[in-house]
Amino acid sequence: MGEVIAIVFGAMVGSFLNVCISRLPKEESIVYPGSHCPRCGHPIRFYDNIPIVSYLLLKGKCRDCGRSISIQYPVVEAITVLGSLLLFTRYGLSLSYLFYFAFFSALVVITVIDLYHQIIPNVISLPGIVVGLLGSLVIPEIAFWDSVIGFLLGGGSLFVVATSYQWLFKREGMGGGDIKLLAMIGAFLGWKAVILTILLSSLLGSVIGIGVMLVKGKDLKYAIPFGPFLAAGAVIALAWGQRIISWYLGV
Ligand SMILES: [Zn+2]
Repeated sequence: MGEVIAIVFGAMVGSFLNVCISRLPKEESIVYPGSHCPRCGHPIRFYDNIPIVSYLLLKGKCRDCGRSISIQYPVVEAITVLGSLLLFTRYGLSLSYLFYFAFFSALVVITVIDLYHQIIPNVISLPGIVVGLLGSLVIPEIAFWDSVIGFLLGGGSLFVVATSYQWLFKREGMGGGDIKLLAMIGAFLGWKAVILTILLSSLLGSVIGIGVMLVKGKDLKYAIPFGPFLAAGAVIALAWGQRIISWYLGV
C-alpha cells in the first residue's frame, strides 16, 4: 500500500517538476495558468494530464494540434516516480523520505534546466540550502554540524577551483550556479558526500566529455554544463555513499 502512495505521489511531483522546468527559466508563475500545450497553447484536459499514462495514450502527440510532446515530460515523471519509490523503500513514509525526495526533486529540475539553458536557477539552489540546513535539525540521518560543514565545504571548494581556474586561464570555467548547487548538496548530504560528489562528477564529466569530444571532435569547454554531473554524483552519493566510503576506508 505504501508503495502505491509513493508511486502516485512521485508521479504528481514529477508532473509539477515538468511545470517548473518549463516555466522557471522564463520567470513565469508555476501555479497559474494551468498546463497548456507549449506549441498551440490549448489548455490540457484533466484526463490528458495523467503523468506518463497520458503520454502513452496520446502516443506523444497533442490532442489539439497533433504536434509532438517533448519526451522530457514522461522521462522526468518516470525518474521522479523511481526516486520516490526507492527513497520510500529505504526510509518509509517519514520526514527523512520527504527530506531526501525534496533534494532529489531539486536535482531533477536543476539538471534538466541546466541541460537546456546552461543556468542553475537560484530559486531552487538557495531555498534548497536552507531546507538542507534546517532539515538536518529534525531528521536522524544527518547531524546539523555535518550539514553546516558540508555546505561550507561544498560552496568553498568549488569557489576556490573556479577562482583559480579564472586566474590561471583568464576565463570562466565554472559558474556561480555550480558553486551554489554543491553548497546545497553539502547541506543535504554532509561533508563526506561533498568530497565523493566532486570525485564522481569529475570522473563522469571527464569520461563523457572526452567521449563527446572524440565523437564530435571539438573543444567543448563551453558546451557541456557541469550541473548535471554534480547532480548525478550527488544521487550516487545518496544511494551508495556509505558503502563507497566504507569500502574505500577498508572498513
Ligand atoms: Zn497543441
